[in-house]
Amino acid sequence: MINLNNFSSFFIANWKLHGDFKFIDQFISELILPEDRSKCVVICPTSVYLDYISRKNKNLYFGAQNVSQYKEGSFTGEISCSSLSDLKINFCIVGHSERRKIFNETNYDVNLKSSQLIENNIIPILCIGETLDEKNNGETNNVLAKQLDEGIPELSNSDNTIIAYEPVWAIGSGLTPTYEEIDNTHQFIKKYHAKFNKYKVVYGGSVKSNNAKEIVSLSNVDGALIGGASLKSKEFTKIIKD
Ligand code: PEP
Repeated sequence: MINLNNFSSFFIANWKLHGDFKFIDQFISELILPEDRSKCVVICPTSVYLDYISRKNKNLYFGAQNVSQYKEGSFTGEISCSSLSDLKINFCIVGHSERRKIFNETNYDVNLKSSQLIENNIIPILCIGETLDEKNNGETNNVLAKQLDEGIPELSNSDNTIIAYEPVWAIGSGLTPTYEEIDNTHQFIKKYHAKFNKYKVVYGGSVKSNNAKEIVSLSNVDGALIGGASLKSKEFTKIIKD
């Protein structure tokens, strides 16, 4: 398993259901990586392209966007942790709000998937976050606490798991919490359980080149999970640059 403590920050590109061979070739040829090798840049394409993109010889890391909760068997269309492990990828996003909302993924599923990823030496990037109604009702911390209580598996620790705080209302909307709110929520997560104190906690939700630096330099933020802006090589280059 990759040593998370070798890195000062994490920039995780969630390409969702976008990209093909042509897109990947162009993106990789245009991408300029930071000289600072302590920045961990992770690309998460659709699983079909993981093998292809990981053969591109750049100082990049790769992740899947989802994995099956089943180890093997009669589960047509699923992708197992062990098959991701065969690809030698280091990360997998789990519990993204789109999966929770559209595919009814529960905290229990998130727990099971994360646990199996860890057993296969893949680091789950475990997403949590509140909806706008929950935020407006002052329920953010309670929602996050439940997602952490139920979603983080027993064998998780700061060496094998990344937490991604993604307010659902900030994803793809162009809206973000204030910097102070982001920092306070990350602090809440890190203080919620003694063991979370050392976890890497990244922020996701409308991160762009004009706010990435400020967000990632907040004292309780260890990086960013980037959706839309990670699909444009020039914009993503600006986000990750020194
Ligand atoms: C995401 O989908 O994880 C995300 C953060 O998207 P965006 O950056 O587009 O808000």
